Amino acid sequence: MILRNEYLEDMEEYIRNMDESEFAKRGTTKEAVLDSRDTMEKLWAVYQKDVEDYNCDEQFSLEDAVNEVLGAKPVQKKICAKYHCPFCGSERFIGHQEIRAEVYVGGDGEFEDNLPGGLEAAIYDSSHPYGPFTCSKCGKEYDPLPENKEVRLPRGTFYIVSGVNVQMCKSDGYSYHHEDDGYTVLSNGTRALAVSNEDYNRYYGDQRSFML
Ligand SMILES: [Zn+2]
Repeated sequence: MILRNEYLEDMEEYIRNMDESEFAKRGTTKEAVLDSRDTMEKLWAVYQKDVEDYNCDEQFSLEDAVNEVLGAKPVQKKICAKYHCPFCGSERFIGHQEIRAEVYVGGDGEFEDNLPGGLEAAIYDSSHPYGPFTCSKCGKEYDPLPENKEVRLPRGTFYIVSGVNVQMCKSDGYSYHHEDDGYTVLSNGTRALAVSNEDYNRYYGDQRSFML
């Protein structure tokens, strides 16, 4: 691969625009990275290889190069929701629930058209919500709820998506990126997801093509 200067220029611009805290997290500084010819050449090579050999888009490749050369961003200890939509990050779903409520009963012994104090006030017992659950933001359907799980791989930290047809990823613009420690990482340019090779093989057999 012949290194082309335009990739180095892109990389330098990307580094200059990154927040200083991104470097602090990785135990370095922006200045030290830009001043190190060795580091910049490594970043340049990974970035160009991602774009030219793996057909990844520019934004993803820039981030990927930074994670590979400077180290992946440490997983932040944050209080996360137990479930979230791996496609859009939403933590709200539309599910189903059986509820018991006090109702007005008319002279005919049947339910009358209203509930005393409105639905919420009238409920006295309810079961646990059940699926199928629909993401209230992007409309993807799940059953059970998708767990909020991440996996830290050599190339970065990714949300795990499981139990969904990989075709769903394709229709969302995700394309096959690479295999990494038992996972296949898919990216659509703005988000990247990890599908375990077991889940991937369930839909595709052992047949792996470059694009989904
Ligand atoms: Zn969603």
